[in-house]
Amino acid sequence: MPERAPLGVPELLELDRRHVWHPYGPMPGRAEPLVVESASGVRLRPADGSDDLVDGMSSWWSAIHGYRHPVLDEAVREQLGRMSHVMFGGLTHEPAVRLAKHLVDMSPEGLEHVFLADSGSVSVEVAVKMCLQYWRSLGRPAKQRLLTWRGGYHGDTWQPMSVCDPEGGMHGLWSGVLPRQVFVDAPPVEFEEAYADLLRETIERHAHELAAVVVEPVVQGAGGMRFHSPGYLRVLREACDAHGVLLVFDEIATGFGRTGALFAAEHAAVTPDVMCVGKALTGGYLTMAATLCTSRVADGISRGEVPVLAHGPTFMGNPLAAAVACASIELLLGQDWQAEVKRIESGLRDGLAAAAEIPGVRDVRVLGAIGVVQLDHPVDMAAATRAAVREGVWLRPFRDLVYTMPPYVTDDADVARIARAVCAAAREG
Ligand SMILES: *Cc1c(COP(=O)(O)O)cnc(C)c1O
Repeated sequence: MPERAPLGVPELLELDRRHVWHPYGPMPGRAEPLVVESASGVRLRPADGSDDLVDGMSSWWSAIHGYRHPVLDEAVREQLGRMSHVMFGGLTHEPAVRLAKHLVDMSPEGLEHVFLADSGSVSVEVAVKMCLQYWRSLGRPAKQRLLTWRGGYHGDTWQPMSVCDPEGGMHGLWSGVLPRQVFVDAPPVEFEEAYADLLRETIERHAHELAAVVVEPVVQGAGGMRFHSPGYLRVLREACDAHGVLLVFDEIATGFGRTGALFAAEHAAVTPDVMCVGKALTGGYLTMAATLCTSRVADGISRGEVPVLAHGPTFMGNPLAAAVACASIELLLGQDWQAEVKRIESGLRDGLAAAAEIPGVRDVRVLGAIGVVQLDHPVDMAAATRAAVREGVWLRPFRDLVYTMPPYVTDDADVARIARAVCAAAREG
């Protein structure tokens, strides 16, 4: 085999700029990305030889155990020695079966069936398809709209985009193309009876055309990093039951302990009819997500004229991803993860308290292993990122938000360092 000549950093950046789309990026790229050579524990190693950076983002909520974790590395290697992939039509295998069992056992009571998808957005597409098909199967095809609250984020494919925040989610750009869903105002932080009434009334008024209510429970992530009272989840559950509407929780960001509960639904002791998980599912190693549903939903679909769920990604149930997901879940449940999340929560509370005094800061909030500083102006991303890097930390601010959700293995000194970097980014961004 010919040697593969390594590309130097300048060459990589030039080729990247010319050929590679980045998330929400223009082409050719305008902002220069950081070239990462490797990552280990909670640290990213830049390819230009500069100092390692503590990762304050967990690669967008996913790397909860940090990078190159020996147990997760071994799980992938072991599975690689058996098979990387086989089709899931007509075949099955232990990693996928074990993963489904884990998800059923750990998720809210009543979620019994698991559809393995290849990304979070696809898991939301599948959730919507399940709900619409459920009502079609029951002879109610008019029930095909979705209700959600503003400020949400559910992914970048069409159905998920249609329930993203109408302003942040670029509905303007896609008007006439996106399905038109029913929106209510974003949920207040505290429980307010007037807002609960608004939820009840809107669900009742639209029940004849609603297939489902789709929301992120307790924490709205990429739509604005807002928190709300879990009490609203109980209101949704009761109103959906009263008016014959399904309830979908998108736990793609909140799942696997991030908010201090294994799933955010537990804060309200509510079981949704359908639940999406992703992001931390594989500990950040490989792309995989899942849509869970109750027997009621599965039975409804199976009673239809077309009794199958017509969805089947090529890489469905990928054994490498499923094996590392099992290892990540076992690693999480095998430790006192609540204590780790609490420890990070109190570290972030202490470290971010100072941010409240910074001019231009509108709000500081912490929940579980999530810390948010909201500014009263759009963040200067380049300046904020530079300020964080100067503190030795990788952050990715957006809109008016400088925020962090560190890996659960981040030690106290690194949590304090991340908090300092968030403050620096808020000050200079
Ligand atoms: C990230 C995210 C998604 C989309 O997941 P992808 O894997 O990026 O497609 C959907 N919903 C929520 C709440 C998310 O945070």
